[in-house]
Order: sequence, then structure tokens, then C-alpha cells
Amino acid sequence: MVNYVDLKQKLIIIAEHVEKSALDISSKLKEKGYQNLRVAEDGSHIYEILRPFYNKQDQVGLVIINEDLPQAQVAEMCQALAGNTANDSIVPFIILCQTPRKPSEFYLQHDSENSQRYLIHTLQYPLNYHELLLIIDFQLGMKHERLLRHKQEERLINELAERKVVDSKLKYLVVHDELTGLYNRNNFERQLKLVLNRNSHFSENSALLFIDIDRFSMINELEGFEVGDRLLVELVVLVRKFLSSNSLFARIGSDEFCLFLEDNNEHQALNFAERIRTAVEEFRFFTGEVCYSVTVSIGISTINPSNHVYHPSELVLRARQACHTAKENGRNMLWVFNDNDHVVRERRRDIYWAPLIKKALLEKELFLVYQPVVELENGKISHYEALIRMKGQDNVVITPNQFIPAAERMGLIHSIDIWVVETAIDFLANLPPELSHISLAINLSGTAFQDASLLPTIREKLELTWVNAGRLTFEITETAAVENFEKTREMITKIRALGCKFALDDFGAGFCSFNYLKSFPVDYVKIDGQFIQNLMSDETDQVLVKSMAEIASQLGKKTIAEFVETPFIVQKLREFGIDFGQGYFFGKPNMELLQSDSVEINQLLENTLNQTPFSVNS
Ligand code: C2E
Ligand code: CA
Ligand code: CA
Repeated sequence: MVNYVDLKQKLIIIAEHVEKSALDISSKLKEKGYQNLRVAEDGSHIYEILRPFYNKQDQVGLVIINEDLPQAQVAEMCQALAGNTANDSIVPFIILCQTPRKPSEFYLQHDSENSQRYLIHTLQYPLNYHELLLIIDFQLGMKHERLLRHKQEERLINELAERKVVDSKLKYLVVHDELTGLYNRNNFERQLKLVLNRNSHFSENSALLFIDIDRFSMINELEGFEVGDRLLVELVVLVRKFLSSNSLFARIGSDEFCLFLEDNNEHQALNFAERIRTAVEEFRFFTGEVCYSVTVSIGISTINPSNHVYHPSELVLRARQACHTAKENGRNMLWVFNDNDHVVRERRRDIYWAPLIKKALLEKELFLVYQPVVELENGKISHYEALIRMKGQDNVVITPNQFIPAAERMGLIHSIDIWVVETAIDFLANLPPELSHISLAINLSGTAFQDASLLPTIREKLELTWVNAGRLTFEITETAAVENFEKTREMITKIRALGCKFALDDFGAGFCSFNYLKSFPVDYVKIDGQFIQNLMSDETDQVLVKSMAEIASQLGKKTIAEFVETPFIVQKLREFGIDFGQGYFFGKPNMELLQSDSVEINQLLENTLNQTPFSVNS
């Protein structure tokens, strides 16, 4: 329904250069309740008035125009505005003429049959105001109708288009994976259920392989989805060569595949999986000028007469867990699911470590060691990373990888985080004045954002010791940051507001890196050591590290490479434009700081490179 009150608010342009006539029309319209009136004295003025309403067509009413208006081609204007085919932006015209004229005289020639397209009326001077007001009402109503109709059409079209896409997608997705033509997860599980039901009567041996491409999302992000897709297809073709035509082979995640091997015991399944693993390892993926080597991790779960699984998703879950363990153990390997594997091992570890950690916290058996982070360009020591250690029996030093995971699971990690923060700041405070430029990087646990006391502890400790906040950088691992994205970002922002810096640790290990990097307010990106260690021999790593350097620098972040162990790596990193290096080449973690403020990189490089019998390119 047309709301006439609302229509009276619409913009009406009175394009009349004869002053008296313009005044008369205005006052008649005002009397009738039209409030939004503008007078235009020539043609260009009309456009000037309309321009700000470009995106607010529904606020525009109509134009009343003298056919002799200066600087106005009335017919052209009518075609542009009053005959607009885009129904939402039509502007009706009432043309005031000296002699009787038909609206069609203002239509485009070939359009004379198409008269309903135009919203044009003509009136003759002297004006009959009663008639004018009626026409105005009518025109505004028509425009409003067209606008409504247009909106409705638009909504319908969108709805239809959406439904069409969803429909056809659904149909396809019910059975197949679009890209590879393999079964999708649902259909795979359905087929598997049939097989399992059948087998429960025959007590056969079978196995499920869960195949996951290592670092797939890295390639996806570096080369784009299309290249990623091509890699998937090529790998599927490769694996298919090992299969018979009726094998159950499915893609169940972006880079996750399941392969069901009927009539295979554990030994056979392992052999089979190893053949796939080797084939993938030997396979080379080319894109542009780059050649990637790709690896897969494969988890295996088996069924045999004494260990039957009735639900397919259970079998998939087990194989996935095994695959996860394979990844944890270094990727590019096989792992057979074992109930005791994971959970039991972790629990045993937790029970062992929990009292030891508590005791260490109480009895001061924790301590920090410091490893230099060096500016690659000039060898200057930028700062030291503080790394935690525990004193074991017989002076054995226990490294954090042994007890930090247990501390995280047993809820002891917050106490450790606080202890590290306080100890590190104390360390800085107690340095002699000539070392007051030294700064430290401190590792925070992945769950630090849950600890409300962390921020106040940092603030109070800094105030108490007069240590400048700029001397602290906090490191948080990429995986932890991504898992609790919002909360972590909040924490980072607050701690940075104190003046401390932040680094994203183990960058690249989490596979979802680049996207998140954009959104994290960090100063440094620490490229995970796994990409650095084999930099000389691994071309894929070179491509990855180079891109990480480029992207980080584009985002205005400094890069630190971990695990810098050889002079060759230093050279490569400099070539790639990495800013800082940390690793055994410059110095191992130590209780003492280095004597000097810088490392003589060039001399170190010269000495070591000259001693080495093989060339840089080997
Ligand atoms: P991270 O933060 O990535 O620390 C780097 C690890 O690599 C350190 O092991 C360091 O000793 C080792 N590393 C340094 N240079 C090289 C090298 O050239 N080659 C090789 N192979 N390794 C090198 P670390 O000290 O055993 O620490 C292991 C992890 O434990 C750390 O990884 C960090 O995630 C965690 N961690 C260490 N200290 C703390 C701490 O104070 N608090 C918390 N929450 N976690 C800590
Ligand atoms: Ca670290
Ligand atoms: Ca790291």
C-alpha cells in the first residue's frame, strides 16, 4: 500500500525559470503538504540537485519542468530519467508546455509503443493546479509501486539463484567430491558400513588408511587454490595406480583421504601404505618454475576378528588419530592406531611430571637460559630469548619439551608463565648499567590468555623494577594464537599497550599462517625451525621461507629464523631478506649472556665457508 504521508516527504524539483510561476507552484504544493521542494533555474541545476541522491533513489519524488527551461534538453532528460529501464531509479516528469503536447513527443522514437516505460505527463500553461496536484499524486504513487516491485523482483531473483546453486551442489555433494570425483565422506561411511556389516559375518581382516598431505595448506596459500586443487588431483591419480577399480577411496577433508583395504591384515596394510608413502615422496609437483616435493602422513586402523568395529566413523577416527601421531612424530611416516598410544602415554607422563613441576616451582629448581637473536645484516645482538630449564637429579638439566606439555594439561602452566615473567624481569633489573640496553624475549604458554593475573603481574613487576617495557618481547606460538584467536588478540593488544613487543612463534608450523598473520598485532614473526634446518637441501623450504619473508615484510613485521645452524643457512637467509637469526651457529642457550654486543658474522662465515669442502650450491 502506498503511504501518502511518506510520499509527501519526497524531493520534488520545480524546474521553472519564470519566478512567479515557480513561486505559485511552490506555494500550492506546500499548502498540500509537500515539504521537500527545490527550485531549479536551469537544466544543469536539476542534475546538481539530484546528484547527492545517487544512492538514495527512494527519497527522490519527481521533476516538474518548464519545456523552455534554459540549458535543458527536456526530451533527453526525460529519456535519461523518466524512461529509465532500471525501475528503481526512475524519476517521473511533469512537463509544462506553452502549447498542447503529448507525452509521447518526449519518448524515444523507436520506443513509442513502449509507453508504459515512461512516467511522463504534460500540462499546459496557464496551469490548472487541481490537475497538477492530482498528477503529482499519481506519479509519486506509480514511482513507489515500481520501486516496490523492483525490490521484490530482486529478492526473488536472489532467492532463486541461491536455491539453484544450493540444489545442484547438494545433489552432487550427496555422493561425490566435486574436485577429485572420489567418494565424499558421507557416501564413504555409508559404503563402509555395508562392508563392515557384511564382514561381521565373515570375520575378515581389513584396514583403513587415513592419508593426509603434509603442509598442504602452505602450498595452497603460496600458489593459490587452483594450484592446490591440481596437486590434489595429481596425487589422487598417483594413488589410484595402486588400487583396483572397486576400491573404497574417498576424500573426506580438504587434504584428507581415506582408503579402505579389504582382506588386508596389519602387515599387508603397512606394506601397502609404505608403497603409497614412497610413491608420493618420489613424486614431483611442478607449478611455474617451482618444483615441490610433497609428502604424506598415513594413519592406519585395522579390524580383525578380535577387534571389530561396527561404526565406520569410529574406524575413521582411529585412523585419523594415528595419522595425527604420525604428524607429531615428524610427518612423512606411517602410524598404526593403538589404543594405548596417546591417551595412556600422556596420562602416565602427567602423573609423573605434576609433582615434580610443583616441587620445582616451590624449591626453585627452575631456571632460565638465554640464547642470542642476531641481526643478520650486521651481526648485532638484537635480544636474547629466555628458555626455561628444570634441574633434575644428578645435575641433569631437563628441557621444557619434557615437562611443559604436562604442565599445560595439569593446569600448572599459569604458575610457570608467571614465574618466567617475574624471573626474566628480575634478570633485566639486575643487569649492570652498561647492559641496560639488553632486552629479552619470553615464551608464553598457549593458554596464557586465560590467566587474568598475567597482565597485572607484568605491569606491577615492570613498575616495581623500573625496567622499560620496551625491553620485553613476548612470544606466543602461532597454533595457540589461532586456536583462541579473539581472546589472544585481545591479550596481545593489552600487553602491547604497556609498551612490550610481541612475536608469533613457530610460524608456518600451524599451516594456516598467512591469513592469520594479517590480523595479529605482532612485531616479529619467528619462522619455525623445521623450515630452516634443511634450508640448503630442501627446495620447498626455500620457496616457503622466501615467501614468508616477503609477506611478513609487506605486513610490516620483522622476521626471525630459528635453528640457524650453519653458515650456508645464514647466507640463504640474508639472500631472502630475513631480518634476524637465532640458533646454534650464533650461540646455544646459556645461563650467561655473550661477552660482546655483536657476533662477527662475516668473519664466522669466511672461516667456516672456507673450511668446508663443498660449494654453496651443492
Ligand atoms: P621455542 O620457543 O621454539 O624455542 C626454540 C627451541 O629451539 C629451544 O628449545 C632452543 O633451545 C632450540 N634451539 C635453538 N637454536 C637451535 C638450533 O640451532 N637447532 C636446534 N635443533 N634447536 C635449537 P628449548 O629451550 O628446549 O625449548 C623448547 C620449547 O619449549 C620452546 O620452543 C618453547 O615452545 C617452550 N619453552 C621454552 N621455554 C619456555 C618458557 O619459559 N615458557 C613456556 N611456556 N614455554 C617455553
Ligand atoms: Ca620461542
Ligand atoms: Ca619457535
